[in-house]
Amino acid sequence: MKYLYGVDVGGTSVKLGLFSIEGELIDKFEIKTNTENNGQTILTDIANSLKEHMKEKQVNKSNIYGVGIGVPGPVTNGVVNGCVNLGWGIVNVKDGLENLLDLKVAVSNDANIAGLGEMWKGGGSGYQNLVFITLGTGVGGAVVVDHQVIDGHTGTGGEIGHAPSLNSPFKCNCGKIGCLETITSATGVVRLAKKLLTEKETPSLLRYEDEISAKTVFDAAKKNDSIAKETIEIFGQNLGFVCATMGVITNPQVFVFGGGVSRAGQIILDVVIKYFKQYAFYSIKDTTEFKLATLENEAGIYGAAYLAKNLGEV
Ligand SMILES: [Zn+2]
Repeated sequence: MKYLYGVDVGGTSVKLGLFSIEGELIDKFEIKTNTENNGQTILTDIANSLKEHMKEKQVNKSNIYGVGIGVPGPVTNGVVNGCVNLGWGIVNVKDGLENLLDLKVAVSNDANIAGLGEMWKGGGSGYQNLVFITLGTGVGGAVVVDHQVIDGHTGTGGEIGHAPSLNSPFKCNCGKIGCLETITSATGVVRLAKKLLTEKETPSLLRYEDEISAKTVFDAAKKNDSIAKETIEIFGQNLGFVCATMGVITNPQVFVFGGGVSRAGQIILDVVIKYFKQYAFYSIKDTTEFKLATLENEAGIYGAAYLAKNLGEV
């Protein structure tokens, strides 16, 4: 039996999973991300924990097809060009981990592996051309064409959160005004709702909340609250607009939405589809599907394992 390891490196913890070559998750575990001293022990910690796990599960190294790893920064050819959350500058993750483990290693960024995971075993399962958009604290994504994730020239392929939106007036963490994530991330939804509450006198359930969150906004919209509904409309208008733009670039079969905000469920799909149909080129209007992600925070290890699976001929 052949195995794959999938590794998803985050700022606070590293998630690891042992998979069968068919993509069945056999075991998962987690270690702390040690960001001290510019995160210089992270790769060694990962290698040691994998070696221990192999011993514990009696998995022979010769039966491991490869290790896939996702990191929170732009990646080209196995090299990460800076990960602020890890304290990393330029790090050759592929060579580093291959030397430590004596196994084949494939590297991509965290949003890209999550997209591959959703394509392989999640909301995008059965599709080979998709765009995955994660609506969390920020907005990230992955563009998958014929089962391949597009990293692009400098590793920023799929940075959908920084796509120009239709009408966001807000300044982004990246310094630019109007990036998609300023309005469609969890923080963006809250920012937008607060703006509308200040500008309008309309009564709203949100005025009674101690702390407004994306969830409270979506919950209020489901109860027909007019400020919350207007927030969701603007959210959908901007997301639908960017999806319509992407629709004529790679012509995906499906857009898959993940991240905390997507837990609001069908309401997200409904509003995005409404505006997608308004902005999209006629031939993709009715042929593009919209789905919710299903793997939650395991998407990364699934996608990393998928990367490992594609290291060569199986
Ligand atoms: Zn930005």
